[in-house]
Amino acid sequence: MAAIELRNIRKSFGAVNVIKGVDLEVRKGEFMVFVGPSGCGKSTLLRLISGLEDITSGEMLFDGKLVNNLAPSKRGIAMVFQSYALYPHMTVYENMAFGLTLEKGKGKEEIRQRVEKAADMLQIRQYLDRLPKQLSGGQRQRVAIGRAITRDPKVFLFDEPLSNLDAALRVATRIEIAKLHEEMDQTTMIYVTHDQVEAMTLADRICVLRDGLVEQVGTPMELYERPDSIFVAGFIGSPK
Ligand code: ADP
Ligand code: MG
Repeated sequence: MAAIELRNIRKSFGAVNVIKGVDLEVRKGEFMVFVGPSGCGKSTLLRLISGLEDITSGEMLFDGKLVNNLAPSKRGIAMVFQSYALYPHMTVYENMAFGLTLEKGKGKEEIRQRVEKAADMLQIRQYLDRLPKQLSGGQRQRVAIGRAITRDPKVFLFDEPLSNLDAALRVATRIEIAKLHEEMDQTTMIYVTHDQVEAMTLADRICVLRDGLVEQVGTPMELYERPDSIFVAGFIGSPK
């Protein structure tokens, strides 16, 4: 059964149709990468999946259950954005624990264990007492990812999480994200990027979006060797 199934999903803002009928299945534990030109609807599609934005029509199912009207907080989803949006006056520990402290029935000790486990995964344990401003951009982005992990999401959504980092940090953090996916192997991840190397190295499958529609879905090798269109070839690298 698919972790996420999108059936003829559409989204318009006023008279502007942005998502024009997307059908897609994301498998449980899969690392799915969305690529496509700026403005094609990648961020909008992630926001629809997260529930931050309502779909205009279509059906969205998680583990086979319709979630069209399910509140974002009930979807078991964590989202990591390009800008990490940490609370500047809170320590790294407090930033990572904050969401958990809002959940009912979580004791201090359980929260501490969860935060420390996430911090270990991302190798930021030694920074737990620091403030965000005392960290580099890459470290801050790890904190943002760590904060999402502590919530124990079923699905992780990343919207160009590395695009504010310099080249060396991008590579290091990308490797960190790949490791994370291995360690959390039942966690489904959807990752938006316009970086071809990120897409090719991280993805189990890539979904190429074009103007609010799915152009092609396949493994990196399938898209590279058998692009359906010049558009896909242009994105993935091999000329048709
Ligand atoms: P991408 O992430 O692929 O660059 P977006 O999903 O951000 O693209 O945007 C797709 C299109 O939808 C763009 O033309 C954008 O201007 C439009 N759009 C996104 N959000 C809104 C909104 N809240 N109101 C109106 N138009 C929007
Ligand atoms: Mg975007």
